[in-house]
Amino acid sequence: MTITQELNQKEMKLAKNYVNNVYEKVTNRNPGENEFHQAVKEILDSLVPVLAKYPKYMENSILERLVEPERLIIFRVPWIDDQGKIQVNRGYRVQFNSAIGPYKGGLRFHPSVNSSIIKFLGFEQIFKNALTAQPIGGGKGGSDFDPKGKSDNEIMRFTQSFMTELSKYIGPDIDVPAGDIGVGAREIGYLFGQYKRIRGGYEAGVLTGKGIGYGGSLTRTEATGYGVVYFVNEMLKDQGESFDGSTVIVSGSGNVSIYAIEKATQLGAKVIACSDSNGYIYDEDGLDLETIKRLKEVERKRISEYVKEHPNAEYYEGCSGIWSIPCDIALPCATQNEINEEAAKILVANGVKAVGEGANMPSTLDAIEIFLNSHVLFGPAKAANAGGVAVSALEMSQNSMRLAWTFEEVDAKLHVIMENIYKNSMNAAAEFGHPGNLVVGANIAGFRKVADAMIAQGVI
Ligand code: NAP
Repeated sequence: MTITQELNQKEMKLAKNYVNNVYEKVTNRNPGENEFHQAVKEILDSLVPVLAKYPKYMENSILERLVEPERLIIFRVPWIDDQGKIQVNRGYRVQFNSAIGPYKGGLRFHPSVNSSIIKFLGFEQIFKNALTAQPIGGGKGGSDFDPKGKSDNEIMRFTQSFMTELSKYIGPDIDVPAGDIGVGAREIGYLFGQYKRIRGGYEAGVLTGKGIGYGGSLTRTEATGYGVVYFVNEMLKDQGESFDGSTVIVSGSGNVSIYAIEKATQLGAKVIACSDSNGYIYDEDGLDLETIKRLKEVERKRISEYVKEHPNAEYYEGCSGIWSIPCDIALPCATQNEINEEAAKILVANGVKAVGEGANMPSTLDAIEIFLNSHVLFGPAKAANAGGVAVSALEMSQNSMRLAWTFEEVDAKLHVIMENIYKNSMNAAAEFGHPGNLVVGANIAGFRKVADAMIAQGVI
């Protein structure tokens, strides 16, 4: 063994111990926050080689500072329902890291929302935003409010109450929220209206995902779904493959899913299944996207309605069964931990070639290991689904410049950003001894940018 190799082993051991210590502190300080622990573990474990090579990150206690949010705001959201009854929900905003720009990240309205979910999403967002090469920090927010079954007026009263409190903490140069699960164009409109009313000025850059008529960016609606497909296309191209002629499964039927289906279809794939939180549809001839768009975006109905209009298609109750359908490419675009070890094994046994994560943390740590060990091309969320926040940053740029780019201009920029995220992640993976491993590559590429900025700015 050469001295260099010995030194290397010693440094790797030191770095591993450091990572284990930080992870232990995270689990002790944030008891019961399983999703947050999972997100931290996934990132920390992959940083060992970069910590070993650059001890400055340990000397500056970068990991201890990164895992602690700069600020976590929790607030009461009282509102009145259509029966005149007072309801109370809980609101959250985590302002996780502002080393490279104002906090940026979506708002999620879903009954499952709690501190753990918001912190996992906010933590991931730091690295994702850094990967886009745009000047945006990491944040996330939301509420345990369930928009399902609520009237438009109830949605408006809730979002106005939510923004009344949130407005104290955000601003175009401070913190810029956007949509996520349960927060689409309608909710962003009401949130923006209330912010404007409270602040008394037209600060267009305070929210992204706005309507095109009042400061929104063309392509923002499509950006995350299109971006996932652009990213997976890069992975396929490197292997001499493409979407053309392949069979694809997309879970969910919300914003990310719909536009992933659209772009995959445009590139010549046949998308045969999608889902919502009740069940999934399977259409061996390929899904009819116009029906899905109308059912989900306009009529806000369940995906089960699809089979009434397409009798050849089949509907199955429950979400997990979707992964038992054989496919070439799987795009989980619904929610966290939707692909577990068992689902990953079935996908691999059925010959899946590529998995691209449209949702945040849709694969468990066990599932990721199975994909990597089976040499399935695997595009992790923070790289593959960064297109949404990248175009949000482009929306902020357009708002600052008071001009609007065309759909084609923004789409072209999105395409280049996704190609660069792929290249930078692949390069980082190779440089640190894990060629082809995009989990390691994306984490390291995002980490270095944020960590270097933190060191430059001193102990704050
Ligand atoms: P969305 O429009 O609200 O759609 C979410 C979809 O997932 C719906 O079909 C929903 O079904 C389904 N779903 C939600 N919770 C589920 C559960 N527990 N089990 C099974 N299905 C569930 O949200 P979205 O914006 O597309 O976001 C989807 C994922 O992408 C999330 O992980 C989000 O964090 C991530 N993401 C979004 C963006 C963006 O720009 N929107 C950017 C990056 C990442 P129901 O209608 O039945 O609830």
